[in-house]
Amino acid sequence: MKLTIPALLFAALIGTNLHAEEKVLNLYSARHYQTDEALYANFTKQTGIQVNRIEAKEDELLERIRNEGAQSPADIFITVDAARLAKADELGLFAPVQSKFLEERIPAHLRSTDWFAFSIRARVIIYNKDSIKPEDVRNYEDLAAPKLKGQVCSRSGAHPYNLSLMASLIAHLGEQKAEEWAKGVVANFARSPRGGDTDQLKAVAAGECGVTISNTYYFARLMRSTKPEDKKTVEKLGVVWPNQQTQGAHINISGGGMLKTAPNKAAAIKFLEYLASDAAQLYFADGNNEWPAVPSLKSNNAALASLGNFKADTLPIATLAKNAVLAQKIYDRAGWK
Ligand code: FE
Repeated sequence: MKLTIPALLFAALIGTNLHAEEKVLNLYSARHYQTDEALYANFTKQTGIQVNRIEAKEDELLERIRNEGAQSPADIFITVDAARLAKADELGLFAPVQSKFLEERIPAHLRSTDWFAFSIRARVIIYNKDSIKPEDVRNYEDLAAPKLKGQVCSRSGAHPYNLSLMASLIAHLGEQKAEEWAKGVVANFARSPRGGDTDQLKAVAAGECGVTISNTYYFARLMRSTKPEDKKTVEKLGVVWPNQQTQGAHINISGGGMLKTAPNKAAAIKFLEYLASDAAQLYFADGNNEWPAVPSLKSNNAALASLGNFKADTLPIATLAKNAVLAQKIYDRAGWK
C-alpha cells in the first residue's frame, strides 16, 4: 500500500504506529506464474492481509535478504529446489515455525523445522521413441550403461537439479557407486553439457541424442503448448518413471519459510498455513505444472494426469541438501561440467 502525505500526517498526529496498524506480508518469491495473482488475492480476502511481492531470481533474492540483514522487510522466502532452501537455511536466514496444521498437512520428508515444501516435481528419464527402447532406460543407473554410448544429453552437473539428483544417488547407492554412475553417464554424453532441461528435450526430439533427464514440469509445459514445434517435440518423446522397482523417481520441491528477521511474523505463519490449504495447494502446484505437497490432494492438471501415477522417492528432502556439496565434488571428479 502506498501512503499519501495526508495519511502520513494523520498517522503522525494521532501518534499511531503504522506498522502495527497495517496488515501486510512481504513476500520474496522466485516463483512468478499466472495463477499466483489468484493465490495471493484469496489470501488477502481471507485474512485482510495485503501481500507485497518482490519477485526475482532465486540467488538474487537470497543475496538481497543477506544484504538487507536485520533491516530486511522480507517475511517469507519462496524458492525452488531443496539445495536453495538449504542454502538459505545454512545462512541462518529462516526462523523455525511450529504449526500443527503444517505438520499435519506436509509429510515429514517434505519439510524441516525451518521450511516447508508446497509442491513437488519429479526428475524423470525422457527418451526418443525412434531410437531408444524404454526397457533400456528404466532406471537412472541405466544411463551409465555402455550400450548408451553417445546417447545422453544433459544440462550442467553444477545445476541444483542435477546436484539434488546426485545427492539422492549418494544416499541410495553410496558415494563410490554414485561416482561410478556419474563417470558412466559422462562417458555416454552425446555432447558436453549445455542449456536447460527444455534444451535437452529438444535435442532428444531432434535426434541429437537419445535420452536425457528432465524435471516433469518442463515436459508438461511442452505438452500444454499450442506451438506446432512444441507439439512435434512432444510426439517424439517418451517418459519413464525411473527406479520404480527400487527407491522411486527422484523428486524435488518448491517451498519456503519464514525469515528470522520477519517484521510480520504472525502474518507470515498464517501465509505458510494458507499455502498448505486445499485451494492454495492446487493453485500453487498448477502454476508450474507441479503436484501438491499435501498427499491427499489430486492435481487437476491434465498434462500431469496423462503421465500416469508413479512411485516417488521418500528420501527426506533435507538429505538432498546435506549431500549437495559432496554431489558437486563427485561431478567435478567425473568431469560432468
Ligand atoms: Fe526449473
